[in-house]
Amino acid sequence: MENHDSFVLHGNIIYTPDKNKFISLKDGWMVVEKGKIISVSAEKPASAAGLPIKDCKGKLIMPGFADLHLHAPQFIQIGMGMDYKLLDWLDGYTFKEEPKFADPDYARQIYPIFVDEMTACGTTSSAIFATIHKESTDILCDILAQKGVRAYVGKVNMDTNSAPALTEETAKSLQDTEAFIEKWQNHPLVRPIITPRFVPSVTADMMTGLGKLAEKYQVPVQSHLSENPGEIQLVKELFPQDKYYMSVYDRFGLFGQTPTLMAHCIHLSAEEIAIMAGKNVYAVHCPASNLNLTSGLMPLRKLLDAGVKVVMGSDIGGGHTLYMPHEIVRAIEISKIRSIEHPEEKALRLSEAFYLATKAGGEFFGQTGSLETGYSADFLITDVPDFQQGRTVEEQLQYFIYHGTAQDIREVYVNGLSVKN
Ligand SMILES: [Zn+2]
Repeated sequence: MENHDSFVLHGNIIYTPDKNKFISLKDGWMVVEKGKIISVSAEKPASAAGLPIKDCKGKLIMPGFADLHLHAPQFIQIGMGMDYKLLDWLDGYTFKEEPKFADPDYARQIYPIFVDEMTACGTTSSAIFATIHKESTDILCDILAQKGVRAYVGKVNMDTNSAPALTEETAKSLQDTEAFIEKWQNHPLVRPIITPRFVPSVTADMMTGLGKLAEKYQVPVQSHLSENPGEIQLVKELFPQDKYYMSVYDRFGLFGQTPTLMAHCIHLSAEEIAIMAGKNVYAVHCPASNLNLTSGLMPLRKLLDAGVKVVMGSDIGGGHTLYMPHEIVRAIEISKIRSIEHPEEKALRLSEAFYLATKAGGEFFGQTGSLETGYSADFLITDVPDFQQGRTVEEQLQYFIYHGTAQDIREVYVNGLSVKN
């Protein structure tokens, strides 16, 4: 059964084809052929004939999670410095930790542990910031590729306002980035993404070069946007000619000219939200991080209502866990807090939050993140305790999202292949 990419699963199936509803089947059937989902049905379909059956009776089968913003090197500083806000936390912790990845042996020591944990948490697709170091970033990509999970990985660019050990020479940074793109652009699972850290750490020359690379190779972009009032003020001082924070990225071809992920997007005016909605830019909501660094309460409902594409991220080490159900619950909690002060911002329902962390995020990688016909067979099998067996499948999922842990995730598949140790 292991690593057989054509088979039939029989168990409790649940997914969100759209954000407003779950589809669930008790003792349903899911046919997987050559790594793709062929069908999900209540009765055993004719197409199941001749395929091995994987008995998942009494367990949940759901799409794998998509974590669209996280920093792999910060895995080792999770939980540290949480008394700080963003800019002091970066100076006090992150900018002291990331230089360690100049040593490839250190990357070889840390990154496998990170990738194993992310996969064990049920994340099958991710968009990852590495560090400025090309060799360590290649090592991270090798580990992800070997594991068989789907990821966009960015060699981070920083050439100003950074610790000396993290300040690159602009031309060299661009050369390294181009070499990294050329090495990984055709890999089936692990792909490059242009990754200026955020506006304060990159010069206009760097952004000009990165915008050209995004266009030349048609690769996506990821960065941070409007996370913290101090950061926004700093951007205003650095680029006074640009109307908004996002205008800086846009001017250099780094804001939706190719698909773009912007983490946080907390402090945005109605006009900025409208601009975003008109572009191929995804807002990555990172609720745990936003609380830990006292960054703010993202007006998620406003962004959704305006038509902005919203996805979810763990943002470790601003966030403190790679386990995406934690982020699903935090997103709902933050939206409920906002709805108390702003009744017009309706709180997020579980189906919506689950959709953001599966199908909405999976879309960035193609047809992944749902259990619909034609989608990649990226899914999880989780335990359901005996005392919850009498519940509906939707209730079993509710229990798992709120009370489950990574230990309840028994198996993780990408393209129909087992990826969990
Ligand atoms: Zn981040």
